[in-house]
Amino acid sequence: ICLHPLGSTTSSSRSCPVCQSIRCGVSSCSCAGFKPRKVQLRSCDRCGHGWVEHALEQFQAHPPSGSGPVEVALPGLVFDLSSLVLFGAQAVPVQLKILLDRLYSILTPEQVGQILNSLGWSLGDYVRGYMLQHPGGKVLDRWSMATPEEELLVLRQFLRFGETRPIVELMMLQYLDVSRHGGFSTTSHLRNSSPAS
Ligand SMILES: [Zn+2]
Ligand SMILES: [Zn+2]
Repeated sequence: ICLHPLGSTTSSSRSCPVCQSIRCGVSSCSCAGFKPRKVQLRSCDRCGHGWVEHALEQFQAHPPSGSGPVEVALPGLVFDLSSLVLFGAQAVPVQLKILLDRLYSILTPEQVGQILNSLGWSLGDYVRGYMLQHPGGKVLDRWSMATPEEELLVLRQFLRFGETRPIVELMMLQYLDVSRHGGFSTTSHLRNSSPAS
């Protein structure tokens, strides 16, 4: 499966020059190109590392900055960011969805439809936040999506745009807070207010 606008969605990753060049970003890994696993599309069949670890390499030439000038959210760049979140996934973590929604709001509905479709998502599924059925037709009972570690990596990429930078800054503070206190504050809140006793 190739997910780059250069190739068509039907072309295989083997023939796409971009896929070929998406080497793995894990420093000890020598994998030269992402190859999606058969079932778990978000894992590399060659090295076992994740799709995000490979695809983020495209962004390394221009790392996001929280203080520099903002970038224009061009459709191609929005596509690349969307692919980090949506490719091979059947659900979207809500914070990433909030950020994607912001960027989609400045694109035309046609552009948004194109991005979603080439990543295997229908507009209805995206708006719901998860798929009911596998693209093959099977009803889903588990949903693969960006892991919390990937979420944090992807979150940083949204610092590029004026539309999302202020939201990301607040979200990242929240993450720091969580790691400092060793757990989500909502969890302890739920525990405290539980009527179990
Ligand atoms: Zn790797
Ligand atoms: Zn790999």
